[in-house]
Amino acid sequence: MSRIYLSEAQKQRIFHQLEQAYPEEAAGFLLGHMVEGYIAGADVVIDEVVPVDNVSDAGKKRRHFVIKPQDWMRLEDQADASGLRLIGCYHSHPDAPATPSAFDREHSYPDFLYIIVAVKKGRATDMRSYELGREGSHKHITAVVSDEAWQEIMSWDHVQ
Ligand SMILES: [Zn+2]
Repeated sequence: MSRIYLSEAQKQRIFHQLEQAYPEEAAGFLLGHMVEGYIAGADVVIDEVVPVDNVSDAGKKRRHFVIKPQDWMRLEDQADASGLRLIGCYHSHPDAPATPSAFDREHSYPDFLYIIVAVKKGRATDMRSYELGREGSHKHITAVVSDEAWQEIMSWDHVQ
């Protein structure tokens, strides 16, 4: 994965959800597809942003999020049914930087996209995207938020 493309509306939807959940962490899934032949072979475009519940223990919701296995499976099915891939997930870091925490690294999956949004005093201020390695490494992924680019890519044939 080298770049991801989002629409302005998708970014706003993510920001709105994460701001509403403040000061707790909130999260969601990203469904999308690979973009063949566009700039780099491994670019990804996001088709759908799907909020999920944080089922972490009440006292821990400010520190991290836990996604129900049922939600995870439901999203896998939803992706399959619509010819999309479960590309990654997003979550907030209330009053903390948009960099992966130790918890994020320990619970990471390879080839999965992680969008982290810093929410400072209730306002989303910074959005960053990563692929996380278990050894503590991470690769920064460029997120392109552009309605123009997003609409153009969405008009092409889907290649899963
Ligand atoms: Zn985190």
